[in-house]
Amino acid sequence: AKAEGRGTWRLYDVEMDERQKDRRILQSALRQAVLRDEFRLEYQPLVNLADGRIVGAEALLRWQHPERGLLPPGDFIALAEDAGLIGQIGEWVLGQACREAANWPEHVGIAVNLSPLQFRDSGLVEIIDRALAQAGLAPGRLELEITETTMLETNSETVDALWQLHGRGVRVALDDFGTGYSSLSYLRRFPFDKIKIDRSFIRDLGYEKDDSSIVLAIIGLAERMGMVVTAEGVETPRQAEILNSYGCGQAQGYLFSRPVSAAVFGELLVTGTPL
Ligand code: C2E
Ligand code: CA
Ligand code: CA
Ligand code: CA
Repeated sequence: AKAEGRGTWRLYDVEMDERQKDRRILQSALRQAVLRDEFRLEYQPLVNLADGRIVGAEALLRWQHPERGLLPPGDFIALAEDAGLIGQIGEWVLGQACREAANWPEHVGIAVNLSPLQFRDSGLVEIIDRALAQAGLAPGRLELEITETTMLETNSETVDALWQLHGRGVRVALDDFGTGYSSLSYLRRFPFDKIKIDRSFIRDLGYEKDDSSIVLAIIGLAERMGMVVTAEGVETPRQAEILNSYGCGQAQGYLFSRPVSAAVFGELLVTGTPL
């Protein structure tokens, strides 16, 4: 039994070593990825639920790794944060998203995800000002998506930055709403223009009574506070129908479109609807 125990430990150690080695290799590749122009943005349409028209897009980061292929953000964002690279990558995302959105019709907005670490960067307001100015994009067309986790880690400087950006007309969205902590107190203290209801509440809509109650309550709350609501992860016509009947303004999900390249998104904008 003793030998077996030691064997198990050894196996565990080897696995840990392998994983750490893999992380290190990926981190050093990540360090060069910006310079080597290996990042891409995909765009997922945001539609007005009542008529299916595209009102904007969320920019979603991809890494075209030379050997491993196209990697989703889940595979490298945390790594980039640990390696202190998220500021540089996030700045690229903001610049690229604003440049590409400047080619779209004026009523089509662009939403960009911000990491909590990026938000603690004292230069964030300047970085965003520069991205907008260089692209010639009106501030009102940019929306920043911030999660409750980000809010959890805020200090007074981040709060100032949020208000400054809001004052310039940049829109602020609370992402993954309902999955974090103390969501309601954030709504009171920060200038959110939008709530994005997390996909976990949308999934069983129409089958889980509690989910319906929660979604209805969020929509009602947002309405009274003058905020727009986007439902995330809408995959079925039934979910879209229910959300529309609840008065939910916008939706995003595979039902309408998967995230697509800038070129394909441009084609969707020609008809103005992904369906
Ligand atoms: P998120 O902000 O919640 O983005 C939505 C995620 O849900 C995207 O995954 C999208 O592809 C996926 N999705 C959209 N519609 C559906 C649907 O109908 N069903 C299902 N099952 N999934 C759907 P993705 O692209 O893998 O991004 C994952 C997360 O990575 C994002 O979650 C966001 O938190 C983060 N992320 C993406 N781009 C950036 C970025 O530029 N910077 C930072 N800091 N984080 C990013
Ligand atoms: Ca998001
Ligand atoms: Ca989300
Ligand atoms: Ca999410």
